[in-house]
Amino acid sequence: MLSNELKIRIRNAYANLSKNIPGFKPRRGQGEMIAEIARTLDPEDTLEVRIAVIEGQTGTGKSIGYMLGTIPLAQILEKKLVISTATIALQEQLMEKDLPIVAEKAGLEFSFKIAKGRRRYVCTRNLSSLTGSDTSQDALDFGDDHVGSASWTRPPAGDELLLVNKMENLISAGAWEGDFDDLKEHVSPDMREMLTTSNAGCSGRACPKFQRCPFQIARQDLKKVDVIVTNHDFVLADLELGGGVLLPNPADTIYVFDEAHHLPEKAIGHFAHLSRVKGAIRGLDSLAKTTNSAAVVLGGVKYRNRASEVRQMVSILKQDLIAINRQLETSFPTEAETSKGRFKSQSKEQNWRFVHGITPEAFCEPGKEIAVKASKALQISRDLQETLRKGITDQVVSNGAGATILQHLGQDVERIAEIAKTWAFWSAPDNDGRIPMARWINKAESGDLSIAVSAISASDMLRSMLWNKAYAAILTSATLTALNSFGRFQRAAGLNANDGTSYLRISSPFDYANVGEIEVPWLACEPSDADLHTTEVVRYIRDGMDHSKGNLVLFSSVWQMKSVASKLPAEIVSKCLLQGDTSKADIIRKHREAIESGQGSTIFGLASFSEGVDLPGALCSHVVIAKLPFSVPGTPVEEARNEFLEKNGQNPFMEITVPDASLKLIQAVGRLIRTEQDRGRVTILDRRLITKRYGKQLLDSLPPLRQIIGTPETRKRA
Ligand code: SF4
Repeated sequence: MLSNELKIRIRNAYANLSKNIPGFKPRRGQGEMIAEIARTLDPEDTLEVRIAVIEGQTGTGKSIGYMLGTIPLAQILEKKLVISTATIALQEQLMEKDLPIVAEKAGLEFSFKIAKGRRRYVCTRNLSSLTGSDTSQDALDFGDDHVGSASWTRPPAGDELLLVNKMENLISAGAWEGDFDDLKEHVSPDMREMLTTSNAGCSGRACPKFQRCPFQIARQDLKKVDVIVTNHDFVLADLELGGGVLLPNPADTIYVFDEAHHLPEKAIGHFAHLSRVKGAIRGLDSLAKTTNSAAVVLGGVKYRNRASEVRQMVSILKQDLIAINRQLETSFPTEAETSKGRFKSQSKEQNWRFVHGITPEAFCEPGKEIAVKASKALQISRDLQETLRKGITDQVVSNGAGATILQHLGQDVERIAEIAKTWAFWSAPDNDGRIPMARWINKAESGDLSIAVSAISASDMLRSMLWNKAYAAILTSATLTALNSFGRFQRAAGLNANDGTSYLRISSPFDYANVGEIEVPWLACEPSDADLHTTEVVRYIRDGMDHSKGNLVLFSSVWQMKSVASKLPAEIVSKCLLQGDTSKADIIRKHREAIESGQGSTIFGLASFSEGVDLPGALCSHVVIAKLPFSVPGTPVEEARNEFLEKNGQNPFMEITVPDASLKLIQAVGRLIRTEQDRGRVTILDRRLITKRYGKQLLDSLPPLRQIIGTPETRKRA
């Protein structure tokens, strides 16, 4: 049981918000959320699993709920609180609005800071190399060896030089802390790539700029704050490094994952590997050169011998890679040879996916050989890298020569590590009983081949790297259930119904039944008849919508969105804003301006307008969904996942496709009612909701707006 002192602290904080924020209305859902979090984190309770999954439907006020629930407990427990989101928009809302309000008005004393990746900060070593202010650095080499690295790979243009000088002056004057988000000037992506560095490209303590490095300072600052706001990718990057490297140690951390439904897919993306065969061959020469340079500055026969070993290994590896590239090229199937595996042409690329993730035997042995040799080269290179780093830090090696070599060596080590890892996973069979990986070969438009391997489920990874290590985790989102069940999310995230995790659904406070309706008209056809269905969508938008108001039409494909727009009368199209014609932010701005000036406006959007878009009040009184958001497996990972389910006697359509469509449909319908004052209508132009068995399940899981379901008779009468 939570101590009285803690209860009073949380209650007082909530009461302070009510008292100090004009118009603040305590919400039932926030109370439920706080209570659930308090139960999960209760220091008096000896729970083995401190994980809570909380779906807080629209209007719950989740962010205030989890802040008040977690901050006082994290302080008592002396744990760090890491709040992670999937989108920048939510991060900005937390940093600029919610956290400052809670810090100022709730009477809780705490500090907070955002944690960002290295690429959001200028690398002052790279900056001063260019301005010439650091005379200790060697002259820059703009050769081909380090194309794609974090250093300057080409001479900068005149206006770029002016900009880098300005950046350096701003830093010297204390007017800029090196965070690109705070810089008024635009920095092109190309230039930004060269002004930042990767984990491997950073020389760490051996860097002459270490003490005043913006990224390192920001990292140190994180240690002093109570609450860290970040994104799922940053948390996963930390876990990939073992945890506790970029962020506090997981055992000392309470995580809050907001927009948690994105976590499993993000995790899969993080733990996928791809290696370009010809690119690897080119990169190996660079490794031989940099290890040699490292040996020269370190001095001594021992290091020269080590570098010589790398050179020999590189030479054999290159031969092996050339041989396997030839083997892969001749084996790569043509369209007709489907017996070789699941062969698929996607746009101008082709993927040859191996059935059940089993790499053909002919590739396994040579693949394993490459992995073993790459690992040996990696081990020696890493030893040289560490010796060089130590030499610079101990001032045994001259900083000028050493730092540049260390920078390039770091990038080459990162490259060989990726080669070793990818070939090892690609050519080794999966352990019995484990979910198999997807393995395939990608052929680019140029004909170059890459080998690729990816997990098809994040469940094992998240369980071993996160749930088993974290002190506690709160996972929340407006949509975590699909078809009224947490099942799909549990399986994807590696959680079980009976592993001690608690689950809570907080229903929306909106009076849905009395503020709007969902209509499903009986159309002449199903969406599989693409042309006729498009004609039906055009007819509905033309005759069934009020174009003097604010509307949102959501499409599942660019093709249909553009076809519909091309068939509508000019006076209607002139009031439509199409996704892709301009940025999302610009579309929302223009839409808002049109509505505020009393004109109608209709947004035509794709999937990204179905989630996280807030169009309250008159901005949206009618949402039209052209088609149920079923996704067709298109990537090798999705195909491999379906294949695995089928092999185990499961139906991928019912296990994955329908639950995923349910979640997306709930999000799309959720665009209509954003505040208690909102009113309106949702129209779904897909009669499979009426004719198919799963249709009823999808309808039953939607927000409880009044439903008007069409029949052939209602169509005749219309
Ligand atoms: S410590 Fe790393 S990121 Fe910072 S300036 Fe040096 S090399 Fe760049």
